[in-house]
Amino acid sequence: MNVFVVNCGSSSIKYQLYRATDEAVLAGGLLERIGSNEAELHHDAGGARHDRKVEAPDHTVGLGVILDALVDAEIGVLTCIDEIDAVGHRVVHGGEDIRQSARIDDRILEIIRKNAELAPLHNPANLAGITAAMSALPKTPHVAVFDTAFLATLPPHAYRYAVPRDWYSRYHVRRYGFHGTSHRYVTLRTAELLGLAAEKVNLITVHLGNGCSMTAVAGGKAVDHSMGMTPLEGLVMGTRCGDIDPALIFHLARRAGMSLEELETALNKQSGLLGVSGVSNDMRDCLAAAADGNDDATLAVDIFTYRIARYVGSYFAILPGCDAIVLTGGIGENSPAIRRKICRLLHRLGATLDDKRNEAILGGAEGAITADGADLPVWVVPTNEELMIARDTQAIV
Ligand code: AMP
Repeated sequence: MNVFVVNCGSSSIKYQLYRATDEAVLAGGLLERIGSNEAELHHDAGGARHDRKVEAPDHTVGLGVILDALVDAEIGVLTCIDEIDAVGHRVVHGGEDIRQSARIDDRILEIIRKNAELAPLHNPANLAGITAAMSALPKTPHVAVFDTAFLATLPPHAYRYAVPRDWYSRYHVRRYGFHGTSHRYVTLRTAELLGLAAEKVNLITVHLGNGCSMTAVAGGKAVDHSMGMTPLEGLVMGTRCGDIDPALIFHLARRAGMSLEELETALNKQSGLLGVSGVSNDMRDCLAAAADGNDDATLAVDIFTYRIARYVGSYFAILPGCDAIVLTGGIGENSPAIRRKICRLLHRLGATLDDKRNEAILGGAEGAITADGADLPVWVVPTNEELMIARDTQAIV
């Protein structure tokens, strides 16, 4: 069985083609700048990478370009697209309607459409990808894997905000969370690595990429999460502020005359590592500037790691136990310096770092970075959202 995994952004489509029997990736790639005159396809197959300028005015044409590449005589891996047995789609927001992945039918399409109100940047793009793929592959089953689904188990005391209650009933104001597919993948994988049953494992999973989020997992289920109604809440991110006092907004509106739009842009796009460092949203640049003596970059990194430690502390208080802390995402997987700082802050909880292990785990490797017998093991487990989507798709189909 071949499963085609599609992850549509507003101007890009990421894709992977899996052979389900052995989970081999037959091909994968990225089509970017859809809608501009300079769309580019980066296609990996058979160990080689192929870059092409292509015409892709919209997602439908874009998806056609990708399917053509998959059956291309030179760079393709299939003889015809009928060899695709199922398609798995990443969908960001399922709202309160969705608790697990589902085969796409009219009801699921309507749910994705309805929840676009809560994810205006993501759900419409996801829907465009689904529509394009369903019209290109009308006889093939399509499955939606929702980012919010793993976080649907949060109890009301974790997902409700202490605001007037009709905001929840009338305007759906509550914590939904994001990155759920990543947190689910690393939860299952870490349980496997620890030799524990998935439904028994207690973890704190920490996704540190350009967006950052944390999940408290009790008995394999998410019980709390750092992102909120939108992905702005929680940890410090590349350009997002994470937790702030909401009264900042009133203060700046009155004092600086900033509009709601300006504030929204500043908190989403000009804050986080970029805002504090003034250098970059990229952790590598911030660490390099900090090493060169830039105090603002040092502070940005310190706020970033301090916030993580604070969340770990609060999740420790609400979990029945903690088998491990799991670091993932671009920063978690690749930055020994940030991992060292986090372990230092968590030293009193028993996260005794093994420096050699920490330095050695890079570029997709997995393993513990704490010493044998540490009270609080810290693991690095590279995330694999696409594989999670492929597995769900195969299981449902
Ligand atoms: P992601 O969104 O998961 O692709 O992660 C992207 C982020 O990972 C980038 O913004 C970088 O800040 C970070 N990153 C990638 N490699 C490294 C590295 N070697 N050291 C520090 N940060 C890294």
